[in-house]
Amino acid sequence: MKSNWPEQRRKLKIEYERKGITSCELRLPGCMETFGMNFHHRHKRVYYIRRQELLGDFNQTILACASCHDKAEASRGLTILLFNKLRYKENV
Ligand SMILES: [Zn+2]
Repeated sequence: MKSNWPEQRRKLKIEYERKGITSCELRLPGCMETFGMNFHHRHKRVYYIRRQELLGDFNQTILACASCHDKAEASRGLTILLFNKLRYKENV
């Protein structure tokens, strides 16, 4: 199955810019602000295999610098907390 993530990523970047989000949203200790920015997803990649259209959904993503992305990626608890705070709560 071929993911259209590169295309969704391009659309997301435009959406984030329109919303005025152009640097790391997480601001955890050691935040690098705009360095190595990437989208941190609410769920692990496997969750999106059958829901590929959600990869590029604003509410499934948070813009994060390299440092915050690594920290959030390493902790499910932290990821849930951050998404509840910055997006909305999702019952799964
Ligand atoms: Zn950061």
